[in-house]
Amino acid sequence: MAYDTNNIFAKILRGEIPCTKLYEDDLTLAFMDIMPQTDGHALVIPKEPATTLFELSDEAAAACMATVRRIGNAQKKGLGAEGIVLMQLNGPEAGQTVPHFHIHVIPGSIADLRKP
Ligand code: 5GP
Repeated sequence: MAYDTNNIFAKILRGEIPCTKLYEDDLTLAFMDIMPQTDGHALVIPKEPATTLFELSDEAAAACMATVRRIGNAQKKGLGAEGIVLMQLNGPEAGQTVPHFHIHVIPGSIADLRKP
């Protein structure tokens, strides 16, 4: 499926809509989820245009995981989070709603996640 350049995370990357930015480097951006499942729920995205993990380059995938680790460590230190849930959906069939690759970094337990 072709990458949709008008998806909401592409607009965030272009600075067309605001976000609460947590961290940015050359390859990735981390920001707060607008509808957090738990306090501190963050999203990590690559700057590279990729809809799912299966279009993402190895370099961007590695950079995303490094940023996930950075955000998770900040959640442990800053929020006292003992557990960190990572969630990553690929394709609408899996429940992905924004067609730009993203990793949810959610402080807490899988039991804390709200039902859809
Ligand atoms: P998905 O269901 O695709 O895995 O997750 C998409 C996530 O993006 C959801 O948790 C949703 O709350 C979040 N989200 C959707 N629109 C926006 C937005 O405009 N800004 C931010 N910060 N998060 C968004």
